[in-house]
Amino acid sequence: MPCKSCSVIYRHLVAAALTTLLCTQTAKADTLPISDAHLHYSHDSVELTPPERVIEIMREANLKLALVSSSDDNGTQLLLELAPDLIVPGLRPYTRRGQTRSWFKEQDNLDYVYDLLSKNRYASIGEFHLYGADADLEIPRRIVTLAAENNLILHAHSDADAVERLLAQDSTVKIIWAHAGFDEPEFVSSMLSKHDRLWVDLAFRGEVGSGGQLSAEWLALFEAHPDRIMLGTDSFTPERIYYIPDHAEGARVWLATLPKDTAERIAWKNAYDLIMPVWKKNRATLDTDTTTACSTIGSNALPIGEQARVALQADRKIQIGEAFSLTLTVCGKDLNSANVAIDATMPAHGHGMNYTPKHTVLSQDSNSMTVQVDGLRLHMPGEWQWLVTLRKDGERSQAREEFQVN
Ligand SMILES: [Zn+2]
Repeated sequence: MPCKSCSVIYRHLVAAALTTLLCTQTAKADTLPISDAHLHYSHDSVELTPPERVIEIMREANLKLALVSSSDDNGTQLLLELAPDLIVPGLRPYTRRGQTRSWFKEQDNLDYVYDLLSKNRYASIGEFHLYGADADLEIPRRIVTLAAENNLILHAHSDADAVERLLAQDSTVKIIWAHAGFDEPEFVSSMLSKHDRLWVDLAFRGEVGSGGQLSAEWLALFEAHPDRIMLGTDSFTPERIYYIPDHAEGARVWLATLPKDTAERIAWKNAYDLIMPVWKKNRATLDTDTTTACSTIGSNALPIGEQARVALQADRKIQIGEAFSLTLTVCGKDLNSANVAIDATMPAHGHGMNYTPKHTVLSQDSNSMTVQVDGLRLHMPGEWQWLVTLRKDGERSQAREEFQVN
């Protein structure tokens, strides 16, 4: 992109260097944004390239959205934490590299999907590999059901036969057909005409716009379905992470031969319009989990950590030297393996109770837990303090509340 305002100082060598720098920066800001709908950051990539560097590379490429799915999921979560404005997580049903031909027969892979869905939020399930009649096996059927139940798009590296079998299993599920099925543009066009819940990504289709020009066949596809095509780099091997900016730049060359509106749609809008509403909706359920779970325990419950609250309820008026019980109700998220305990201390005296209370878990799930505490006894009058400790994922959070016993 030319930088006219800089050209007057072009004669001077030092100034020219500065000009180049300024122009490069300006160019970056006005380059066409790209949504990259086909990225992976799998375990071997994580070892080779730190997540901070991956995000830098994506920003260099002026990505507006990056749909990332990884084997295992760790890489995706690392990127999401660093750049929640950019990364959209996809759930890849693979725990390691090399499961593309076995995952759809392995209960372990299905269990893995359930486990991740209970912990995290996603926009898609995939990219997975599946061909022909295998799409009708038990595990792929469960995946389609899970996608429908959890508002997830399927991202399928499949032949047309498998795509049609998946679409037939549920009347709502949407599919991004990875690599446009490695099929001919004319056939892809017929598939898009036939199925209104189908989109395609062009990952690893180097022939599209090679030499900066589009062939008549690809142009016909883009003209027929300008709102169903998206781009993807497919970083299926670690070094391809570094190819993201080149890929974006290469795409901009042939996109420039299209009408502006079509170019923008294919460059970023189609992916953005399909994926972002899904992601925003699913991501929001993380916050409502806490709010909903906490709606029943009253607003005066004490905050404990950032994502939980605890309410205390005694079974009688607390009298000096008399045993009583408490019910602790904790609400929040990811409480499945949490542990909660209460103690009473007299801060002014530097001591606590003379007795160790007994804790019994009455109920526990992801959003709430109820614990009965028996054998509490306060042996002297004065200023006391409840100290509630919540342990979860190796972290400890505490809540304190002062109270008076006379
Ligand atoms: Zn693929």
